[in-house]
Amino acid sequence: MVNFIWAIGASITVSLISLIGIFTFIFKEKLLSIILFILIGFSAGALIAGAFLHLIPEALENSSNNFVFTFVIMGFVFFFIMERYFHWRHCHEGVCDIHAFTYLNLIGDSIHNFTDGLVIGVSFLINVKFGIITSLVIILHEIPQELGDFGVLVYGGFTKLKALYFNFITALTCVLGTIIGYLVSENIKGFSVFLMPLAAGGFIYIAACDLVPELHKQPGLKKSISSLLAFLCGIGFILLARILPGH
Ligand SMILES: [Zn+2]
Ligand SMILES: [Zn+2]
Repeated sequence: MVNFIWAIGASITVSLISLIGIFTFIFKEKLLSIILFILIGFSAGALIAGAFLHLIPEALENSSNNFVFTFVIMGFVFFFIMERYFHWRHCHEGVCDIHAFTYLNLIGDSIHNFTDGLVIGVSFLINVKFGIITSLVIILHEIPQELGDFGVLVYGGFTKLKALYFNFITALTCVLGTIIGYLVSENIKGFSVFLMPLAAGGFIYIAACDLVPELHKQPGLKKSISSLLAFLCGIGFILLARILPGH
């Protein structure tokens, strides 16, 4: 029961990140883009480390190499298809090359948040520390993700308030995913065995295909060094979280 409450708390936190668009009312665009740039690097590192040092090792404890890595690839392919189809994207600085994809984006966003929720639910059932680390990785990548969603909706013609509202509603699917993930995994033993490597594949896709290319778009030596440092810090953050005590 304690684990379940933790899981719900974590997924509500993730849902609230969908309101990140509020910061576009408060912060200047330039400051926001600098913060976002560092955060994208940090988040990419955390996702890579989260996949390779957190989710995959856990999955390997319970099943064979072939099984686990096949599902990692499947997770990667799933996210690839989803991005192609629903035009999920992390756009920022107000630049998104979208057309009439607003509603498709809402559907894609709901599915994305739902899968994030599933992963949170399953992770907290494994144990609270495992769940917290997984949630941190998800929270970090949701910041650029949700800011991108908000940008897409505003670009697609929504008012800022309407965009915030719809983005929040779609983000609530995370809580639903958490409840379902937790309950299913509690009753069906094999569920986490394939969900963890699938999620790892998704993490790798988002880091390598969404976030890192965003970093490369910004030229200059200073930007290159700061993005690399942010990336390495993201990896270090997960390493640190893994070795801290707790079970
Ligand atoms: Zn996500
Ligand atoms: Zn969203």
